[in-house]
Amino acid sequence: ETTELLVRRRTHLAGAQKNYYAAPPQIERGWREHLFDVEGRAYLDMVNNVTILGHGHPRLAAAISAQWLRLNTNSRFHYAAIAEFSERLAALAPDGLDAVFLVNSGSEANDLAIRLAQAHSGARNMLCLLEAYHGWSAASEAVSTSIADNPLALTTRPDWVHAAVSPNTYRGAFRGPDTAASYLATVKPMLETIDAGGQGLAGFICESVYGNAGGIPLPEGYLKEIYAEVRARGGLCIADEVQVGYGRLGHYFWGFEQQGVVPDIITIAKGMGNGHPLGAVITRREIARSLEKEGPFFSSTGGSPVSCVAGMTVLDIMAEEKLQENARTVGDHLKARLAALIDRHPIAGAVHGMGLYLGLEFVRDRTTLEPATEETAAICDRLLELGIIMQPTGDHQNVLKIKPPLCLSIESADFFADMLEKVLQEGW
Ligand code: PMP
Repeated sequence: ETTELLVRRRTHLAGAQKNYYAAPPQIERGWREHLFDVEGRAYLDMVNNVTILGHGHPRLAAAISAQWLRLNTNSRFHYAAIAEFSERLAALAPDGLDAVFLVNSGSEANDLAIRLAQAHSGARNMLCLLEAYHGWSAASEAVSTSIADNPLALTTRPDWVHAAVSPNTYRGAFRGPDTAASYLATVKPMLETIDAGGQGLAGFICESVYGNAGGIPLPEGYLKEIYAEVRARGGLCIADEVQVGYGRLGHYFWGFEQQGVVPDIITIAKGMGNGHPLGAVITRREIARSLEKEGPFFSSTGGSPVSCVAGMTVLDIMAEEKLQENARTVGDHLKARLAALIDRHPIAGAVHGMGLYLGLEFVRDRTTLEPATEETAAICDRLLELGIIMQPTGDHQNVLKIKPPLCLSIESADFFADMLEKVLQEGW
Protein backbone atom coordinates (compact mmCIF):
# COMPACT_ATOMS: atom_id res chain seq x y z
CA GLU A 1 0.00 0.00 0.00
CA THR A 2 2.83 2.37 0.95
CA THR A 3 4.70 1.66 -2.30
CA GLU A 4 1.57 2.01 -4.43
CA LEU A 5 0.78 5.36 -2.82
CA LEU A 6 4.35 6.48 -3.44
CA VAL A 7 3.98 5.65 -7.13
CA ARG A 8 0.74 7.66 -7.24
CA ARG A 9 2.46 10.56 -5.48
CA ARG A 10 5.37 10.46 -7.88
CA THR A 11 3.05 10.28 -10.87
CA HIS A 12 0.95 13.30 -10.05
CA LEU A 13 2.91 15.47 -7.65
CA ALA A 14 5.61 17.53 -9.36
CA GLY A 15 8.88 15.64 -9.16
CA ALA A 16 10.75 18.53 -7.58
CA GLN A 17 8.61 18.13 -4.42
CA LYS A 18 10.81 15.40 -3.08
CA ASN A 19 10.46 13.12 -0.07
CA TYR A 20 13.06 13.05 2.65
CA TYR A 21 13.90 9.41 1.88
CA ALA A 22 14.04 7.18 -1.21
CA ALA A 23 11.74 4.75 0.60
CA PRO A 24 9.98 6.88 3.19
CA PRO A 25 7.70 5.46 5.88
CA GLN A 26 4.08 6.40 5.28
CA ILE A 27 3.19 8.42 8.33
CA GLU A 28 -0.37 8.89 9.51
CA ARG A 29 -0.23 10.29 13.03
CA GLY A 30 1.95 12.45 15.24
CA TRP A 31 2.18 12.95 18.99
CA ARG A 32 4.63 15.38 20.60
CA GLU A 33 8.10 14.63 19.14
CA HIS A 34 7.01 11.31 17.62
CA LEU A 35 5.49 10.31 14.30
CA PHE A 36 3.76 6.97 13.66
CA ASP A 37 3.57 5.12 10.37
CA VAL A 38 0.62 3.13 9.03
CA GLU A 39 1.91 0.01 10.76
CA GLY A 40 2.03 1.85 14.08
CA ARG A 41 5.82 2.11 14.20
CA ALA A 42 7.12 5.15 16.11
CA TYR A 43 9.78 7.53 14.81
CA LEU A 44 11.47 10.23 16.82
CA ASP A 45 11.19 13.39 14.72
CA MET A 46 14.52 15.16 15.22
CA VAL A 47 14.36 17.37 12.15
CA ASN A 48 10.97 19.06 12.21
CA ASN A 49 11.53 22.77 12.62
CA VAL A 50 7.87 23.65 12.10
CA THR A 51 5.89 21.87 14.82
CA ILE A 52 7.57 23.61 17.73
CA LEU A 53 4.86 22.56 20.22
CA GLY A 54 5.07 18.99 18.97
CA HIS A 55 2.67 17.04 16.81
CA GLY A 56 -1.03 16.68 17.50
CA HIS A 57 -1.37 19.29 20.22
CA PRO A 58 -5.01 18.90 21.29
CA ARG A 59 -5.40 22.44 22.59
CA LEU A 60 -4.15 23.97 19.35
CA ALA A 61 -6.38 21.67 17.33
CA ALA A 62 -9.38 22.64 19.46
CA ALA A 63 -8.66 26.38 19.15
CA ILE A 64 -8.26 26.19 15.37
CA SER A 65 -11.36 24.08 14.96
CA ALA A 66 -13.50 26.34 17.17
CA GLN A 67 -12.40 29.41 15.23
CA TRP A 68 -13.09 27.65 11.92
CA LEU A 69 -16.64 26.90 13.02
CA ARG A 70 -17.22 30.46 14.20
CA LEU A 71 -15.50 32.50 11.46
CA ASN A 72 -12.75 32.38 8.89
CA THR A 73 -12.34 35.04 6.27
CA ASN A 74 -9.76 37.27 4.64
CA SER A 75 -7.83 40.02 6.27
CA ARG A 76 -9.71 42.95 4.72
CA PHE A 77 -12.54 42.41 7.19
CA HIS A 78 -12.47 43.85 10.68
CA TYR A 79 -12.29 41.19 13.42
CA ALA A 80 -10.69 40.94 16.83
CA ALA A 81 -8.07 38.26 16.23
CA ILE A 82 -6.00 40.24 13.70
CA ALA A 83 -5.73 43.26 16.02
CA GLU A 84 -4.89 41.07 19.02
CA PHE A 85 -2.30 38.92 17.26
CA SER A 86 -0.45 41.87 15.63
CA GLU A 87 -0.33 43.53 19.04
CA ARG A 88 1.19 40.40 20.58
CA LEU A 89 3.79 40.03 17.84
CA ALA A 90 4.77 43.69 18.15
CA ALA A 91 5.17 43.18 21.91
CA LEU A 92 7.61 40.33 21.28
CA ALA A 93 9.82 42.46 19.02
CA PRO A 94 12.36 45.02 20.22
CA ASP A 95 11.09 48.54 20.95
CA GLY A 96 10.32 50.52 17.83
CA LEU A 97 9.43 47.52 15.70
CA ASP A 98 5.69 47.65 16.07
CA ALA A 99 4.19 47.38 12.60
CA VAL A 100 3.19 43.87 11.57
CA PHE A 101 2.32 42.32 8.20
CA LEU A 102 0.72 38.87 8.29
CA VAL A 103 1.38 36.40 5.49
CA ASN A 104 1.40 32.60 5.09
CA SER A 105 5.01 31.45 4.89
CA GLY A 106 8.67 32.30 5.31
CA SER A 107 9.16 32.81 1.58
CA GLU A 108 6.36 35.36 1.47
CA ALA A 109 7.70 37.11 4.56
CA ASN A 110 11.18 37.44 3.03
CA ASP A 111 9.79 38.55 -0.35
CA LEU A 112 7.83 41.25 1.41
CA ALA A 113 10.83 42.27 3.53
CA ILE A 114 12.93 42.77 0.40
CA ARG A 115 10.12 44.74 -1.22
CA LEU A 116 9.91 46.94 1.88
CA ALA A 117 13.66 47.52 1.86
CA GLN A 118 13.54 48.52 -1.80
CA ALA A 119 10.46 50.72 -1.37
CA HIS A 120 11.83 52.47 1.72
CA SER A 121 15.33 53.07 0.40
CA GLY A 122 14.40 53.75 -3.21
CA ALA A 123 17.39 51.57 -4.05
CA ARG A 124 17.56 48.18 -5.70
CA ASN A 125 20.60 46.19 -4.61
CA MET A 126 20.46 43.57 -1.89
CA LEU A 127 23.39 42.19 0.02
CA CYS A 128 23.06 38.61 1.25
CA LEU A 129 25.33 35.73 2.24
CA LEU A 130 26.56 32.71 0.35
CA GLU A 131 25.22 29.27 1.38
CA ALA A 132 21.96 30.80 2.57
CA TYR A 133 18.33 29.78 2.11
CA HIS A 134 15.52 32.31 2.38
CA GLY A 135 12.66 30.78 0.38
CA TRP A 136 11.31 29.74 -2.99
CA SER A 137 9.36 32.84 -4.14
CA ALA A 138 10.88 35.30 -6.62
CA ALA A 139 12.82 37.70 -4.40
CA SER A 140 13.47 35.26 -1.53
CA GLU A 141 14.80 32.73 -4.04
CA ALA A 142 17.01 35.38 -5.62
CA VAL A 143 18.85 35.85 -2.30
CA SER A 144 19.02 32.09 -1.63
CA THR A 145 22.51 31.03 -2.56
CA SER A 146 22.78 27.52 -1.13
CA ILE A 147 23.88 25.09 -3.80
CA ALA A 148 22.48 22.22 -1.72
CA ASP A 149 19.00 23.64 -2.30
CA ASN A 150 19.65 24.82 -5.85
CA PRO A 151 22.75 23.63 -7.76
CA LEU A 152 22.33 26.61 -10.13
CA ALA A 153 22.16 29.10 -7.27
CA LEU A 154 25.48 30.74 -7.96
CA THR A 155 25.08 31.12 -11.69
CA THR A 156 21.52 32.40 -11.87
CA ARG A 157 21.52 35.38 -9.49
CA PRO A 158 19.82 38.55 -10.75
CA ASP A 159 22.16 41.55 -11.03
CA TRP A 160 20.69 43.22 -7.91
CA VAL A 161 21.82 40.37 -5.66
CA HIS A 162 25.30 40.56 -4.09
CA ALA A 163 26.32 37.53 -2.05
CA ALA A 164 29.13 37.88 0.48
CA VAL A 165 31.30 35.07 1.84
CA SER A 166 29.34 33.29 4.55
CA PRO A 167 30.96 33.46 7.99
CA ASN A 168 31.29 29.73 8.51
CA THR A 169 33.88 29.79 11.28
CA TYR A 170 34.32 26.00 11.12
CA ARG A 171 35.18 25.44 7.47
CA GLY A 172 34.93 28.86 5.83
CA ALA A 173 37.70 30.87 4.22
CA PHE A 174 38.66 32.29 7.62
CA ARG A 175 38.36 29.62 10.29
CA GLY A 176 38.39 30.48 13.95
CA PRO A 177 36.53 32.44 16.57
CA ASP A 178 37.87 35.98 16.01
CA THR A 179 37.33 36.32 12.34
CA ALA A 180 34.61 38.96 11.98
CA ALA A 181 37.17 41.39 10.58
CA SER A 182 38.37 38.94 7.93
CA TYR A 183 34.84 38.26 6.71
CA LEU A 184 33.98 41.95 6.80
CA ALA A 185 37.05 42.72 4.72
CA THR A 186 35.48 40.66 1.92
CA VAL A 187 32.23 42.61 2.16
CA LYS A 188 33.81 46.06 1.79
CA PRO A 189 34.79 45.64 -1.90
CA MET A 190 31.25 44.45 -2.67
CA LEU A 191 29.83 47.55 -1.02
CA GLU A 192 32.22 49.71 -3.03
CA THR A 193 31.03 48.05 -6.26
CA ILE A 194 27.43 48.72 -5.26
CA ASP A 195 28.30 52.35 -4.43
CA ALA A 196 30.00 52.77 -7.80
CA GLY A 197 26.97 51.30 -9.65
CA GLY A 198 24.85 54.25 -8.54
CA GLN A 199 21.67 52.27 -7.84
CA GLY A 200 22.11 52.27 -4.10
CA LEU A 201 21.82 49.59 -1.46
CA ALA A 202 18.29 48.60 -0.44
CA GLY A 203 19.32 46.26 2.33
CA PHE A 204 20.99 43.22 3.75
CA ILE A 205 19.36 39.91 4.62
CA CYS A 206 20.78 37.06 6.65
CA GLU A 207 19.89 34.50 9.26
CA SER A 208 21.07 35.70 12.65
CA VAL A 209 22.68 32.31 13.20
CA TYR A 210 24.24 30.72 10.16
CA GLY A 211 21.60 28.07 9.63
CA ASN A 212 22.40 26.17 6.49
CA ALA A 213 25.62 24.79 7.93
CA GLY A 214 23.95 23.61 11.11
CA GLY A 215 23.53 26.67 13.31
CA ILE A 216 27.02 28.14 13.46
CA PRO A 217 26.96 31.40 15.46
CA LEU A 218 28.12 34.43 13.49
CA PRO A 219 31.53 35.74 14.61
CA GLU A 220 31.29 38.23 17.45
CA GLY A 221 30.66 41.76 16.20
CA TYR A 222 29.84 40.64 12.66
CA LEU A 223 26.27 41.91 12.46
CA LYS A 224 27.10 45.15 14.30
CA GLU A 225 29.71 46.04 11.69
CA ILE A 226 27.77 44.97 8.65
CA TYR A 227 24.57 46.66 9.88
CA ALA A 228 26.54 49.92 10.30
CA GLU A 229 27.87 49.74 6.73
CA VAL A 230 24.43 48.98 5.31
CA ARG A 231 22.72 51.73 7.30
CA ALA A 232 25.40 54.27 6.34
CA ARG A 233 24.22 53.71 2.75
CA GLY A 234 20.50 54.08 3.59
CA GLY A 235 19.86 50.33 3.42
CA LEU A 236 17.74 48.28 5.82
CA CYS A 237 18.85 45.25 7.82
CA ILE A 238 16.60 42.22 7.60
CA ALA A 239 16.88 39.40 10.15
CA ASP A 240 15.48 36.14 8.77
CA GLU A 241 14.29 34.54 12.01
CA VAL A 242 12.15 31.94 10.24
CA GLN A 243 14.17 29.08 11.71
CA VAL A 244 16.32 30.53 14.46
CA GLY A 245 13.81 32.85 16.07
CA TYR A 246 10.82 32.16 18.32
CA GLY A 247 12.66 30.45 21.15
CA ARG A 248 14.41 27.62 19.33
CA LEU A 249 17.85 28.82 20.48
CA GLY A 250 16.71 28.38 24.10
CA HIS A 251 19.10 31.00 25.43
CA TYR A 252 17.48 33.70 23.28
CA PHE A 253 14.02 34.28 21.84
CA TRP A 254 15.49 36.02 18.76
CA GLY A 255 18.70 34.98 17.03
CA PHE A 256 19.88 38.57 16.59
CA GLU A 257 20.02 39.05 20.39
CA GLN A 258 23.16 36.93 20.38
CA GLN A 259 24.88 39.58 18.25
CA GLY A 260 23.60 42.53 20.30
CA VAL A 261 21.88 44.19 17.34
CA VAL A 262 18.36 45.28 16.47
CA PRO A 263 17.33 44.75 12.85
CA ASP A 264 15.02 47.06 10.89
CA ILE A 265 12.87 44.20 9.66
CA ILE A 266 12.25 40.77 11.23
CA THR A 267 10.76 37.88 9.27
CA ILE A 268 9.16 34.86 10.95
CA ALA A 269 7.15 31.79 9.91
CA LYS A 270 7.49 28.02 10.51
CA GLY A 271 7.04 27.47 14.26
CA MET A 272 4.76 30.45 14.85
CA GLY A 273 1.83 28.47 13.42
CA ASN A 274 3.09 25.05 14.54
CA GLY A 275 2.32 23.78 11.05
CA HIS A 276 -0.65 26.01 10.30
CA PRO A 277 0.50 28.27 7.40
CA LEU A 278 1.58 31.51 9.02
CA GLY A 279 4.31 34.07 8.47
CA ALA A 280 4.94 37.66 9.49
CA VAL A 281 7.09 40.71 8.91
CA ILE A 282 7.69 43.00 11.87
CA THR A 283 9.20 46.40 11.20
CA ARG A 284 9.22 50.06 12.13
CA ARG A 285 6.12 52.10 11.38
CA GLU A 286 7.82 54.42 8.88
CA ILE A 287 9.24 51.47 6.96
CA ALA A 288 5.82 49.79 6.82
CA ARG A 289 4.39 53.06 5.56
CA SER A 290 6.68 53.09 2.52
CA LEU A 291 4.52 50.39 0.97
CA GLU A 292 1.39 52.52 1.26
CA LYS A 293 2.72 54.63 -1.65
CA GLU A 294 2.37 51.55 -3.82
CA GLY A 295 -1.23 50.90 -2.80
CA PRO A 296 -2.84 48.51 -0.34
CA PHE A 297 -1.05 45.35 0.74
CA PHE A 298 -3.29 42.34 0.65
CA SER A 299 -2.87 38.61 1.28
CA SER A 300 -6.13 36.64 1.05
CA THR A 301 -5.38 34.22 3.86
CA GLY A 302 -2.47 35.99 5.58
CA GLY A 303 -3.79 36.99 9.00
CA SER A 304 -7.10 35.15 8.64
CA PRO A 305 -9.04 34.67 11.90
CA VAL A 306 -7.97 31.01 12.02
CA SER A 307 -4.31 31.90 11.39
CA CYS A 308 -4.33 34.56 14.09
CA VAL A 309 -5.98 32.28 16.63
CA ALA A 310 -3.49 29.53 15.76
CA GLY A 311 -0.63 32.00 16.25
CA MET A 312 -1.92 33.27 19.60
CA THR A 313 -2.59 29.75 20.89
CA VAL A 314 0.96 28.73 19.94
CA LEU A 315 2.29 31.65 22.01
CA ASP A 316 0.04 30.75 24.97
CA ILE A 317 1.13 27.10 24.92
CA MET A 318 4.80 28.04 24.50
CA ALA A 319 4.60 30.18 27.62
CA GLU A 320 2.59 27.69 29.69
CA GLU A 321 4.72 24.69 28.74
CA LYS A 322 7.92 26.77 29.05
CA LEU A 323 9.14 25.56 25.68
CA GLN A 324 11.94 28.07 25.23
CA GLU A 325 13.28 26.99 28.62
CA ASN A 326 12.94 23.35 27.56
CA ALA A 327 14.86 24.14 24.35
CA ARG A 328 17.62 25.55 26.54
CA THR A 329 17.90 22.74 29.10
CA VAL A 330 17.31 19.80 26.75
CA GLY A 331 19.39 21.52 24.06
CA ASP A 332 22.34 22.08 26.42
CA HIS A 333 22.13 18.43 27.53
CA LEU A 334 21.96 17.15 23.95
CA LYS A 335 24.81 19.38 22.82
CA ALA A 336 27.02 18.04 25.63
CA ARG A 337 26.18 14.45 24.66
CA LEU A 338 26.97 15.15 20.99
CA ALA A 339 30.18 16.93 21.90
CA ALA A 340 31.28 13.78 23.77
CA LEU A 341 31.03 11.85 20.47
CA ILE A 342 33.83 14.00 19.08
CA ASP A 343 36.30 12.43 21.51
CA ARG A 344 35.32 8.89 20.58
CA HIS A 345 34.63 9.05 16.83
CA PRO A 346 37.01 10.79 14.42
CA ILE A 347 34.22 11.30 11.86
CA ALA A 348 32.39 13.61 14.30
CA GLY A 349 34.18 16.87 13.51
CA ALA A 350 32.18 19.45 15.44
CA VAL A 351 28.87 20.19 17.02
CA HIS A 352 27.42 23.58 16.14
CA GLY A 353 24.55 25.63 17.48
CA MET A 354 22.64 26.06 20.69
CA GLY A 355 19.27 25.19 22.16
CA LEU A 356 17.37 22.87 19.86
CA TYR A 357 19.13 24.25 16.80
CA LEU A 358 22.14 21.97 16.54
CA GLY A 359 24.32 20.59 13.78
CA LEU A 360 26.71 17.65 14.02
CA GLU A 361 29.29 17.91 11.26
CA PHE A 362 30.91 14.76 9.83
CA VAL A 363 34.36 14.98 8.24
CA ARG A 364 36.75 12.44 6.73
CA ASP A 365 39.76 14.27 8.06
CA ARG A 366 39.87 16.74 10.91
CA THR A 367 42.68 18.77 9.36
CA THR A 368 41.46 19.09 5.78
CA LEU A 369 37.80 18.95 6.95
CA GLU A 370 36.94 16.90 3.86
CA PRO A 371 33.15 16.54 4.13
CA ALA A 372 31.86 13.02 4.86
CA THR A 373 28.89 13.41 2.52
CA GLU A 374 28.13 9.78 1.61
CA GLU A 375 28.76 8.68 5.19
CA THR A 376 26.27 11.26 6.48
CA ALA A 377 23.59 9.96 4.10
CA ALA A 378 24.29 6.38 5.25
CA ILE A 379 24.14 7.43 8.92
CA CYS A 380 20.73 9.06 8.31
CA ASP A 381 19.46 5.88 6.60
CA ARG A 382 20.65 3.77 9.51
CA LEU A 383 19.03 6.15 12.00
CA LEU A 384 15.71 5.71 10.20
CA GLU A 385 15.99 1.93 10.69
CA LEU A 386 16.48 2.65 14.38
CA GLY A 387 13.35 4.83 14.50
CA ILE A 388 14.80 8.33 14.10
CA ILE A 389 13.99 10.85 11.40
CA MET A 390 17.12 12.84 10.58
CA GLN A 391 18.44 14.66 7.52
CA PRO A 392 21.73 16.11 6.30
CA THR A 393 22.10 19.86 5.75
CA GLY A 394 24.75 22.24 4.42
CA ASP A 395 26.28 22.78 1.03
CA HIS A 396 28.21 19.51 1.43
CA GLN A 397 25.26 17.64 2.98
CA ASN A 398 27.55 16.47 5.77
CA VAL A 399 25.88 18.05 8.80
CA LEU A 400 23.05 16.46 10.80
CA LYS A 401 20.17 18.93 10.89
CA ILE A 402 19.01 18.69 14.50
CA LYS A 403 15.88 20.84 14.84
CA PRO A 404 13.28 18.83 16.75
CA PRO A 405 10.04 20.12 18.27
CA LEU A 406 10.81 22.31 21.29
CA CYS A 407 8.91 19.91 23.56
CA LEU A 408 11.66 17.29 23.11
CA SER A 409 12.10 15.36 26.34
CA ILE A 410 15.45 14.53 27.95
CA GLU A 411 14.63 10.83 27.36
CA SER A 412 14.15 11.43 23.63
CA ALA A 413 17.37 13.49 23.47
CA ASP A 414 19.21 10.61 25.17
CA PHE A 415 17.61 8.06 22.83
CA PHE A 416 18.87 10.08 19.86
CA ALA A 417 22.38 10.39 21.29
CA ASP A 418 22.45 6.66 22.22
CA MET A 419 21.33 5.58 18.76
CA LEU A 420 23.81 7.91 17.10
CA GLU A 421 26.60 6.47 19.20
CA LYS A 422 25.46 2.95 18.29
CA VAL A 423 25.53 3.81 14.56
CA LEU A 424 28.97 5.39 14.81
CA GLN A 425 30.25 2.32 16.69
CA GLU A 426 28.95 0.10 13.92
CA GLY A 427 31.18 1.45 11.26
CA TRP A 428 32.44 5.00 11.46
N1 PMP B 1 14.01 31.35 5.63
C1 PMP B 1 14.62 30.32 6.23
C2 PMP B 1 15.83 30.58 7.07
C3 PMP B 1 14.13 29.03 6.06
O1 PMP B 1 14.76 28.00 6.66
C4 PMP B 1 12.99 28.81 5.27
C5 PMP B 1 12.41 27.42 5.07
N2 PMP B 1 13.28 26.37 5.13
C6 PMP B 1 12.39 29.91 4.66
C7 PMP B 1 12.91 31.16 4.88
C8 PMP B 1 11.19 29.75 3.79
O2 PMP B 1 10.05 29.44 4.53
P1 PMP B 1 8.79 28.72 3.86
O3 PMP B 1 9.21 27.33 3.51
O4 PMP B 1 7.76 28.78 4.94
O5 PMP B 1 8.39 29.50 2.67
